[in-house]
Amino acid sequence: MATNDTVQYRAAELQPGETKEGLLAEAADLRRQIRHHEYQYYVLDDPEVSDAEYDALTNRLRAIEALFPDDVPDDSPTRRPGGYVAPGFTQVRHKIPMLSLGNVYSAQEMRDFDKRIRASLPRDADVEYVMEPKIDGLACSLIYEKGRLVMASTRGDGQVGENVTANVRTIKSIPKRITVPDGETVPDRLDVRGEVYMSREAFLKLNEERTDAGEAEFANPRNAAAGSLRQLDPAVTARRDLSFFAYYLVGPAEPPTQAECLRTLEKYGFTTPEHWCVANNADEILKFINAHEQRRRTLAYDTDGAVAKLNAVWEQKLLGATGKDPRWAIAYKYPPEQARTKLEDIVIQVGRTGVLTPAAVLTPVKLSGSTVSRATLHNEDFIREKDIRIGDTVVINKAAEIIPEVLSVVKELRPADAVPFSMPAECPECGWPVVRKEGEAAYRCTNPHCPALGREGLIHFTSRDAMDIEGCGPSIINQLLAADLVKTPADLYSLTKEQLVKLDRMGDKSSENLLQAIAKSKEAGLDKLLFALGIRHVGAKGGRILAERFGSMDALMAAGKETLANIKDIGDVIAESIVTWFANPVNQELISRLKAAGVNMTMERHQVNENHVFFHKTMVFTGTLPTLDRATAQAMARAVGANVTGSVSKKTDYVVAGEAAGSKLDKARALGVTVLDEARFRELLGGQGGTDAPAPAGSADAGTQAAPGTPPDGGMDSLF
Ligand code: NAD
Repeated sequence: MATNDTVQYRAAELQPGETKEGLLAEAADLRRQIRHHEYQYYVLDDPEVSDAEYDALTNRLRAIEALFPDDVPDDSPTRRPGGYVAPGFTQVRHKIPMLSLGNVYSAQEMRDFDKRIRASLPRDADVEYVMEPKIDGLACSLIYEKGRLVMASTRGDGQVGENVTANVRTIKSIPKRITVPDGETVPDRLDVRGEVYMSREAFLKLNEERTDAGEAEFANPRNAAAGSLRQLDPAVTARRDLSFFAYYLVGPAEPPTQAECLRTLEKYGFTTPEHWCVANNADEILKFINAHEQRRRTLAYDTDGAVAKLNAVWEQKLLGATGKDPRWAIAYKYPPEQARTKLEDIVIQVGRTGVLTPAAVLTPVKLSGSTVSRATLHNEDFIREKDIRIGDTVVINKAAEIIPEVLSVVKELRPADAVPFSMPAECPECGWPVVRKEGEAAYRCTNPHCPALGREGLIHFTSRDAMDIEGCGPSIINQLLAADLVKTPADLYSLTKEQLVKLDRMGDKSSENLLQAIAKSKEAGLDKLLFALGIRHVGAKGGRILAERFGSMDALMAAGKETLANIKDIGDVIAESIVTWFANPVNQELISRLKAAGVNMTMERHQVNENHVFFHKTMVFTGTLPTLDRATAQAMARAVGANVTGSVSKKTDYVVAGEAAGSKLDKARALGVTVLDEARFRELLGGQGGTDAPAPAGSADAGTQAAPGTPPDGGMDSLF
């Protein structure tokens, strides 16, 4: 287990020279600082310090309070969760308070927790824990009455939270209505609690879109999830890809154990944490913590720890809570993965929408298993707030385990001649002036023909999630531009082998491959093309929505702003951006040239047979498929009308599993969800009717429509 030396959780002792008055004054100051950081974090979703720094402040406060327990005010941050109800939201009083969790940082502290629990319970009580990952999102309470979702609220200060019902209704993995198998009933009132979170992929895409729009990036997926859920306009939440893991069922319907609670939640159609287990003692608790530490980097979402919860609810009730934390549960927090290195330079990159983004050039250093030599600096405000200067020694970590980010500066090691950074007044690409519009975090180049726009636009056009032209990455694009062979994406489609072989490191074979890849991209489809064009605010999801709604480029171009704005998940801002883009004659010419080159401007989705076996079915892809990459397989399923999601629940109709499929496959099997291998997936994809398809397990006709020879368990013979 990695040790956590950044955070000390130890009762302080009065040191020589310290006085009670001095420490109480320090405590008061710490409370003020902590509340300030909590406001930044919980209300503005814009933390000024890292979680580790915040935790260090609260732990110091706890240590002082432990020395003077009679002097701890009731509203101390150690006694009340630090959430607030932001202006604009109505308040919801929780019938049962929403608690936080106490934290530990070492194996020893975990063993102490286990000892404390055993000492507090009757001698003959069985002690069993449920171990779960600690999902890095924000807690939410969902109230169901007669199976219908009637209210959703954030934790707030634990007693009173924000009413986010309309926003929560836009989250796909949250059932709006609970259904149970025949013969069973749903309790009249349910209070389901869990974590709203944003996957790493969704976080990275959102930040990309925000940079393009000149908006400040979110610091991490947790802040992005909180900022997205706590929106006054639910249409904004709907566009953000939020998910939910359920982990508590409280109130009269509470099952007798936490394990039973997770199973019941699954039965009701919720997604519960993918990995959990029962542990019988401290060794088993630590085993889970170690295993999860290995696993957490490979997950699609952030987890910042592991939670140990007493399994028996009667034992939980016996132990109760201390202020804001239950006594019967504890979170082990993993140490943040950080490294120190020197910031050698700050370079400015100009993106495809003309936004200037500063990046740190670092002395290469190992971090989370890779060598890091660059880190994002987001924008000028970020650099100013952290006072980052060239020559500084900086602490870096990885946001969402992917993009390295500068966390802080080691001021003691600052060279005497280091000067504060300011953004250049001119674009480093073309020399035109740069401007920062009021209300935007970003500086933009004012030259509509800045070479960076064309270059970055081409790189985006050919990228994997867009037209996916293999072998046409930034270095080839740079060569094509330098040789004056392309200016716009349409030029790619008239390239010839004679032109390509003259480029550096481009032989006969690679030129042919590139031409083939370019030709293949003509069939990428309208959804990909719309994303590839780089229309402001139209991301991959927007492209898909528009393509599905209009079916052809012509129909989309003919649509008025009002029609567009009325589409679910589009709204005024995107509608305006689309109309403006298509009104520009330069863009109209680009579309005509792409059309003339034979680029497909329709969406096959509109020819979808509504009787297709995957039409409107919920599918999950997991593991490595033998020949298809995950994105392609998912796109194939979407193209026939499937709804592709990330986690397996009772609502899942099919799981397509490849090698090393892991827990999703286990869960699918446990829930009796139909599992397909790639061969069977392809087979069913090709077939249009439902006659030889295995009905998804759990559907009314499961087992009765299975292919000849398939067993009655939903067609598992050609499966695993
Ligand atoms: P917490 O995040 O440390 O732990 C409690 C929360 O864990 C619960 O409310 C719940 O939302 C969540 N959780 C995730 N998985 C869970 C599971 N399986 N079971 C139960 N709960 C689960 O506590 P908190 O009060 O929400 O936040 C405090 C933390 O937030 C701090 O430790 C710090 O990391 C961060 N913070 C940072 C700043 C900053 O300025 N950087 C400011 C305030 C708080």
